[in-house]
Amino acid sequence: MKRILSFLLAICLITGLLAACGDKKNTEKPADGSADPVETLKIEPSTDKYRNYYQVWIGAFCDSNGDGIGDLPGVISKLDYINDGDPNGGDDLGADGIWLSPMMPSKSYHKYNVRDYFDIDPDFGTLEDFDKLLEEAHKRGVKVIIDLVLNHSGDDHEFFLKACDELSEGKEDGYARYYNISKTSDNTYNRPVMGTDYYYEGPFSTDMPDWNLSYEGTREYFEKITKFWLEKGVDGFRLDAVKYFADKNTDAVEFLGWFYKMAQKYNPDVYMVGEDWDEAGNVYEMYKSGIDSLFNFKFGDTAGEFVSSCHGMIGDMAKKLQKYDNHIKENNANAINANFLTNHDMVRLANMLDEDDNKMAAALYMLAPGNAFTYYGEEIGIEAASTSSDAYYRTAMIWDNDDLPKITVPGVPSVDANALGGVKQQLGQKHSLLNAYRKLIKIRQQNPEIARGNIAELVSFDDKKCAGYITDYNGSRVLIIHNASDAAQELTIDMISNPELRGWLNADLAETPNEEPVKLDGTTLSVPARTSVVLKENK
Ligand code: CA
Ligand code: CA
Repeated sequence: MKRILSFLLAICLITGLLAACGDKKNTEKPADGSADPVETLKIEPSTDKYRNYYQVWIGAFCDSNGDGIGDLPGVISKLDYINDGDPNGGDDLGADGIWLSPMMPSKSYHKYNVRDYFDIDPDFGTLEDFDKLLEEAHKRGVKVIIDLVLNHSGDDHEFFLKACDELSEGKEDGYARYYNISKTSDNTYNRPVMGTDYYYEGPFSTDMPDWNLSYEGTREYFEKITKFWLEKGVDGFRLDAVKYFADKNTDAVEFLGWFYKMAQKYNPDVYMVGEDWDEAGNVYEMYKSGIDSLFNFKFGDTAGEFVSSCHGMIGDMAKKLQKYDNHIKENNANAINANFLTNHDMVRLANMLDEDDNKMAAALYMLAPGNAFTYYGEEIGIEAASTSSDAYYRTAMIWDNDDLPKITVPGVPSVDANALGGVKQQLGQKHSLLNAYRKLIKIRQQNPEIARGNIAELVSFDDKKCAGYITDYNGSRVLIIHNASDAAQELTIDMISNPELRGWLNADLAETPNEEPVKLDGTTLSVPARTSVVLKENK
């Protein structure tokens, strides 16, 4: 009997006549226009710099050889999860860009103190592994940017070791010129060169001496590094610690401008995003360098505008977003905002938000103009076991709750099962956080106006927790509405002509919910509580 039922069910599935089986919940395409457009709209893969970047912390992602450290072959083995190369099918995340955390030889596990800029750390693999990763990513239409640390080197870098040797003999005009050296100690020049009366600049730690970015020799060296990686096929860089580029010799905007133009010689389409963890005003200023993107720290992190607007005044958030976007584009007409919620230096979102709010926050940043950056594991809501150190935000990716990874991070106990499930579990749950991310990425790709448009108009309604904005991309306009309120809304959509429903995300939906989809009837839009909607103007 069971077999006959399975057979009948299979017939229903195959013929796509699920509705005819009498199961109303599974009706995908009711006649009232509330079918989910995301399922039917086609995706044209991006050919420009507007991307959905996925930040891969290599050591935590996937360990291919069982030594307890994630590695490049491991990343390659999981590329199909990030993007399987079919933009219109598969159960991949759909990200079309990858930011790889530092991978050059370094004595630390995080590898932000580089010893050798021309190789891969043996923990992670070889240059051949990296070539293979690039090839496989490019095959899938995925751009790869690598973390590049130009503010400082490791204290075991050949040039720094030579500089220290020379300084011990009082020689200042050799390798010491590559670094910022002083005979007087102050707030920044506070690391003594052992056995000498010299000090070096090292704001982060003793093992991270700051490069002298104004010295011609440093710039020649940086050009060699840049040429090496770009000629390999790298698509760009995530530049570390841009805020610290400024020193007594160096104007950070000038240096960054030089670096960007120099890199364009080797790849005219190079993409760069800088980490300028600073006040918005200083970030605006840094855009004058011509760099494509700088992370939007004002909106990111758990104290940023996106997270704090989860239950808040969306109109205020939209206004600030418009102001921010206008400012950066005033300083660089080609600026691409870089929105994110967390990265490897920040508390995991699941430590601060429940699943529903996590989804709402995801909708707020992913439906904002610019590029979206997702830190690995945030799409499945990994929760840190402790917030006592950064290492806890860099723990193993959970692929399967029933088969936990053996990856170990120094100072962190092995990982537990993820409360929301691993990738495998969440893929099978229609309304999981992972599927919310997959849907949001699709919506961004199906509607190029979201990432590429300017915020042309702010839109408000009676309930101040429900508001939005219109983005305009070469005259094509979409309206993005977030209902962060706990109440359903009935809205009149008269700010764009002939509105067409393009997608939505309901943050409140749990597994097997009584789904109340978004409905558009003429110009009347019904939006459930805690839901984001995208509509397109038709002329
Ligand atoms: Ca390994
Ligand atoms: Ca796919």
